[in-house]
Amino acid sequence: MPFSDLGLSEKVLNAVATAGYTEPTPIQAEAIPHVLARRDVLGIAQTGTGKTAAFTLPMLTLLENGRARARMPRTLILEPTRELAAQVVENFDRYGTNHKLNVALIIGGVSFADQDAKLMRGTDVLIATPGRLLDHFERGKLLLTGVELLVIDEADRMLDMGFIPDIERIVKMVPFTRQTLFFSATMPPEIERLADMFLHNPQRVEVARPASTATTITQRLVATGSEGHAKRERLRDLIRGEAELKNGIIFCNRKRDVALLQKSLVSHGFDAAALHGDMDQRARTTALDAFRNGETALLVASDVAARGLDIPAVSHVFNFDVPHHPEDYVHRIGRTGRAGRSGTAYTLASPEDSRSLGAIEVLIGQPIPWFDGDLSSVADPSADTGTRHRGRSGDTRRGARSAKAGGGTSVPAADRPKARGARGGASPQRAETRGGAAAPRAETRGAVSAPRAETRPLPEPRRESGRAERVRDERGRRNEADGETPIGLGAHVPAFLLRPVSAKKDK
Ligand code: AMP
Repeated sequence: MPFSDLGLSEKVLNAVATAGYTEPTPIQAEAIPHVLARRDVLGIAQTGTGKTAAFTLPMLTLLENGRARARMPRTLILEPTRELAAQVVENFDRYGTNHKLNVALIIGGVSFADQDAKLMRGTDVLIATPGRLLDHFERGKLLLTGVELLVIDEADRMLDMGFIPDIERIVKMVPFTRQTLFFSATMPPEIERLADMFLHNPQRVEVARPASTATTITQRLVATGSEGHAKRERLRDLIRGEAELKNGIIFCNRKRDVALLQKSLVSHGFDAAALHGDMDQRARTTALDAFRNGETALLVASDVAARGLDIPAVSHVFNFDVPHHPEDYVHRIGRTGRAGRSGTAYTLASPEDSRSLGAIEVLIGQPIPWFDGDLSSVADPSADTGTRHRGRSGDTRRGARSAKAGGGTSVPAADRPKARGARGGASPQRAETRGGAAAPRAETRGAVSAPRAETRPLPEPRRESGRAERVRDERGRRNEADGETPIGLGAHVPAFLLRPVSAKKDK
């Protein structure tokens, strides 16, 4: 189906043609006509499916009629992270070249003054993270009673990050008669409840199973010990052995490990930048831009900071830690293998990770092959002497699977990444004793010997003055710092539980 069948305006169709898109993606083909018909839409789709254009393109068409008034935005898009919000602005810039619309980005970590000035000029599209939006509202700088269309994007991530109470507050401030578009990659019960509450007779549009991983991604588990230094050494060895590595994102579960690993990689001559939620906005943008432009080959990141980022050509994803939540695995490895390109995703796994790995394999509906030996090869230092043991976790299923595939190597030779051929199927121990026979690829590409500006120790986050931003920061920090995201209600505590109770004495 061509874009011209969807009911989009001429201006938007021209911009789409300029962007080089020939056909709408499934979520676009399904959602756009309903948005244009002013229906509420419940979109179940991950990033990478073209979902941003599924709402920006029809919004641009609808906004061609009407005019913005000072401090009263016409449309509001809520995003969980600053990076995602900035990405939506880029979409409006790209597709809105033929429009004269005012687009404002309201995110934490940058000055209020510029944002105030933008709001004062009148805003057609306001793209915001919840905390900073509430701050502006509380300062009396913003009225949401003119919002005709509300987009809540990445709703399940909002839940993970503890934003749901903020979202509920914001939704109460926009008119009941608004049109609402609600997007989420997954639909846990809490998100279903919110969708029921916020949407009126919505059109449900679902594209890909949230658990599915792209077939263009080669996934491998890499057995490692659980100590930090052993994992870092294993990772370095892995990167050095990857002849086809152009760039890679390395995910850690905890923010402090992001900073530590990035510094360690730089000290070993790799070209790496860090991206996590405690960095100020300037440092985050610098790191991200350097990675996007190819100036930095490796980006060490936390889940929250990297969620949904649109970086089209990432050749490798490395999970330095196995994610605690299986859905995060799907999101992480989805950073590679995009738009039909091939990609490789390695997950470092120690004996302690068996349970999390099991949950991931159940979710994605397939086992992930081991790269060069399963956990039995790391459970005992004498593994190379022929005394192979089962992993400490006692996970017999994995050991048995690997043994069946033959000698601890479960990946068929033809199916192995190129680097393995170079290594000759070395066990992790042998590979480590090679001690970096191969120079880090990054070095050969003119990597730095001293940390670059964006790879220096990171400044503390600038504190926000507003209450809402503080609350948001606290929640985000708690979730990321612990490496745990809350499940169930998350940080949301129903109001009735917070009401003071007077204890009556029994008579
Ligand atoms: P998103 O899911 O919104 O993050 O989009 C993922 C990527 O798909 C972005 O790089 C978009 O530029 C790209 N994209 C969006 N729509 C189309 C389309 N119809 N054809 C080709 N690429 C697209």
